[in-house]
Amino acid sequence: KNEISIADLYKIQPIGREITISGWVRTFRSNRFIALNDGSTAANFQCVVDFEKFEDSLLKRITTGSCVRVKGIVTKSLGKGQPIELQVQTIEILGDSDAEKYPLQPKKHSLEFLREIAHLRPRTTTFGAIFRIRHHLAFAIHEYFNKNGFFYIHSPIITASDAEGAGEMFNVSVLDKRNIPLTENGEVDYSKDFFGKEANLTVSGQLEAELLAMGLGKVYTFGPTFRAENSNTARHLAEFWMIEPEMAFYELKDNMDLAEDFLKYIIKYALTHAADDLAILDQRLAEEEKSKPADQRSMPLLEKLKFVTENAFQRITYTEAIDILLQSPYHKKKKFQFPVEWGIDLQSEHERYLVEKHFNSPVIITDYPAAIKAFYMRLNDDGKTVRAMDILVPGIGEIVGGSQREERYDVLLSKIRQFGISEESLWWYLDTRRFGTCPHSGFGLGFERLVQFVTGMSNIRDVIPFPRTPGNCEF
Ligand code: ATP
Ligand code: MG
Ligand code: MG
Ligand code: MG
Repeated sequence: KNEISIADLYKIQPIGREITISGWVRTFRSNRFIALNDGSTAANFQCVVDFEKFEDSLLKRITTGSCVRVKGIVTKSLGKGQPIELQVQTIEILGDSDAEKYPLQPKKHSLEFLREIAHLRPRTTTFGAIFRIRHHLAFAIHEYFNKNGFFYIHSPIITASDAEGAGEMFNVSVLDKRNIPLTENGEVDYSKDFFGKEANLTVSGQLEAELLAMGLGKVYTFGPTFRAENSNTARHLAEFWMIEPEMAFYELKDNMDLAEDFLKYIIKYALTHAADDLAILDQRLAEEEKSKPADQRSMPLLEKLKFVTENAFQRITYTEAIDILLQSPYHKKKKFQFPVEWGIDLQSEHERYLVEKHFNSPVIITDYPAAIKAFYMRLNDDGKTVRAMDILVPGIGEIVGGSQREERYDVLLSKIRQFGISEESLWWYLDTRRFGTCPHSGFGLGFERLVQFVTGMSNIRDVIPFPRTPGNCEF
């Protein structure tokens, strides 16, 4: 293709050469300077127009939001702010845009407003940066696993099993009921829309990944996950992407070591491969923080990311976490909305107290009460706690949920019964414990929570192009 991206243009700096670029006009100053952006990098490219050479009727069509293709000669820029610029020879308008009606005016818009126009926000500096960082993180994840001997597997999206047992599944149904076999009474059984069987959208690929790990050793799945989360929090989506490695012969400590090493690798990768975009978000956040009282400001984004890559995560048991919470001034002054006692599921306010107020660092919490965790986690000898590990980070709380899996057939079977799950529905899962079982472990990392952490965005709706939340699935 006879065109160059703005990212490459800045890299190569082909001074004196004739080049063609296409992009969206951010601003057109004094009928002379087009700030053009093509999405390849955050930086705009300055195109210098000699307005005497062009018809007024054409110049009028160069408006904020319009799409143009320009050809010209690259020169050194005399102005501050950019090393090179383009002396424009030809301009082609690819797409007009009515400047008055264009929702993205050349000023700062609120994130809430931009969520309303999610179809146009990729054209802003902030969202360009976020979505490019999202890309780099996804790439780094595959690179890490590939380098470390993991196989990338694909767990099913349509499945009958509710891995988490939380009843947060979306049911699969067909529009044309003629495709469903009728019951003996000649009726339609709507719960069995999947050609006579019940089927749901996956809430986690873990159980299936375990089957693959107990054959291939180390595997991971990285795909879309669906949960009927009828809540409006800053960290829950109804559709999110999850990274789920599963490793044969790994015990809880190996699992934690892997998760910590993995997170550090991914963050370091972003710091080197997405430095420009991170710098933009760092600056954006710093401006936001200025409006807060000094003692409530959080660590600058880049500093936080470096800190995380350079320091060991804190590791404590659930019981220790509860003790810390019980002794906290928040508990004593009854500032927690959910009261603290041994046995509760930690709420995000508790998680954030631990990471943000107490440790000021990521924290791995292990050995949760069996009753609040899923059936598949390895029971400890105390009979009360399981070999679970959650990783909590500042600003978000839980980002990783993992565990050593219960490998003992009898214990697993009694847990399944105790949790009221039908053992027939999990015969295939139980089979792996009947034939050549082995200790194994894994974890789930919510991709959007990782992107949130790395970009510093406080709302999960701002790190996925098309957020699925209650009432939001138009496009
Ligand atoms: P939470 O306590 O925040 O509801 P969870 O304990 O229900 O999370 P897990 O079942 O442990 O979540 O899933 C593993 C990981 O998937 C979580 O640590 C989180 O990073 C991510 N995750 C879970 N639910 C969501 C969601 N609704 N939206 C985005 N990410 C999610
Ligand atoms: Mg949940
Ligand atoms: Mg949780
Ligand atoms: Mg969890």
